[in-house]
Amino acid sequence: MTAPVNQNEPGAPAPEKPPLEILLCAPRGFCAGVVRAIDVVERALAIYGPPVYVRHEIVHNKYVVESLKRKGAVFVAELDEVPDGGKPVIFSAHGVAKTVPQTAESRGLTTIDATCPLVTKVHREAEIHHKRGRHVLLVGHSGHPEVVGTMGQLPAGSITLVEDLEQIEALEPANRDNLAWVTQTTLSVDDTHHIVEALKKKFPAIVGPHKDDICYATTNRQEAVKQVAPLVDALIVVGSSNSSNSQRLREVAERAGCPITRLVNRAEDVDWDAFANIRRLGLTAGASAPEVLVEEIIDAFATRYTVTVDTVSTTTEDMVFPLPRELRSEAAE
Ligand code: SF4
Repeated sequence: MTAPVNQNEPGAPAPEKPPLEILLCAPRGFCAGVVRAIDVVERALAIYGPPVYVRHEIVHNKYVVESLKRKGAVFVAELDEVPDGGKPVIFSAHGVAKTVPQTAESRGLTTIDATCPLVTKVHREAEIHHKRGRHVLLVGHSGHPEVVGTMGQLPAGSITLVEDLEQIEALEPANRDNLAWVTQTTLSVDDTHHIVEALKKKFPAIVGPHKDDICYATTNRQEAVKQVAPLVDALIVVGSSNSSNSQRLREVAERAGCPITRLVNRAEDVDWDAFANIRRLGLTAGASAPEVLVEEIIDAFATRYTVTVDTVSTTTEDMVFPLPRELRSEAAE
C-alpha cells in the first residue's frame, strides 16, 4: 500500500491542480464601433496633443477609459467643463442629443463625433419617422446614454421610451394609427422580439425596421453565449457593470441555464469561492472590453487550475467603420 504524500514535508511534490476546460465564446470583445471610438481619441491626441476632452466615457469600460486618461484624454460630464481655447471635445460612441453639438457650436468649440455609425443610423430612422408625422416609440433602457441621445434627436413629446411589456399595456398614444418604433442597439435580442411583437399586436399599423436596431455585435455575442452557456458549469462576462451589452450577455447565459454567471471587470474582481468546484468555464467579453482582460482572467484561472482553452465560434466578423473625415490621415496632414 502506498502511503499518502505529506504535502507539508519538504521536497513533497506540489499538489496537482484540478483540470478546467475554458470555452471561449467567439465573437467576443471589441466591436467596430468601439475600435473606431478609441481610435478617434488616440488620433485626436496625436493631431492636437494632450489634453483632448471627451464628453462621458468614450465606451463603457474602466480599463479603456483609464488608459486613455494616461495618454492625455480628459473625461467630462458636460460641455461646461471644457475650456475655450481650441482643444477638441469628442462625443462618445453612445451618441448625443442634438442640443449637445448645438451648445458646442454656440461656444465655438471644436467637436469630433465618435458616435457609432449604427447608433447614428437609429437617429436618422427616428428623424425620418418624425418628418413623416409619426410618433416614435423607442425600445430601450431609461438613463442609458444611447437612449438619452436618441430621445434627444426629436422634440420633446414626439418620442416615448418603452422599457417593458407592462408599459405597452399602459400606452395610449394620441394617434395609434401613426406610430413608429426604433430600438437601442445593445438590447437582449429575445426580450426585444417580445416587446416588438406586443407593439405590433396592440398597434397593427405601427411601422419600424425590418427586424430591429440591435447591432450585429450585440446579436453575435449573445448568439455565441447561447451556444456555450448550456455546456458549462459557470460563465464569466468580462465587462463593466454600466455596459448594457455586457449586462445582457450575463442575462442571456443565465436564461440559457448556466448555473453560475458573473460580470467582472478584470481578474482581481473574480469571486473565487463561486468558481471552486467547476470543471468547465465559459468566457466572453462585452463589446467594450479589451482582449487583454480576457487573457488576464485565463491566466488567473491557470494559477489555480490546469487549464485547457477551446474556442466556440458561431460566426466571424469583419466590420470596420472609417474614422470621422477630419481625422483621416490625408485630412489631418
Ligand atoms: S455595440 Fe454595436 S452599436 Fe454599440 S458601438 Fe458596438 S457596433 Fe456600435
